Amino acid sequence: MGNREIFDQVSDMEKQIGELYEQLGDLKGKLSDLLEENHRLAHENHHLRNHLDNFTEESVEKQQKQSDSKQQKGVFPGEGYDNLARLYEEGFHICSLEFGSPRRNEDCIFCLDFFDKTKL
Ligand SMILES: [Zn+2]
Repeated sequence: MGNREIFDQVSDMEKQIGELYEQLGDLKGKLSDLLEENHRLAHENHHLRNHLDNFTEESVEKQQKQSDSKQQKGVFPGEGYDNLARLYEEGFHICSLEFGSPRRNEDCIFCLDFFDKTKL
């Protein structure tokens, strides 16, 4: 291999390394965007879970008060119950463990436990 060819090859490699370096920079930028997004979503998810936990507790409490006063008449439980029941029907968990995540067409004993407690 002549000196000229070696020089050309080295130039080629230099160019490729330059391009790879650029791609690496792009990927690094995308990765940091993703990490930031992931962090934001985890944060949001945490807040939503807390919010929904409170919501669930509140509606269970409301339910219990209502069923205390209406138990004998067999009146259907309140609006909060309806909302949760509908959420479950639509295929989402309503238990505190998995609240809001899809059930994938499987019954969840924790969700069903919630129905048992509120149907008293
Ligand atoms: Zn569940």
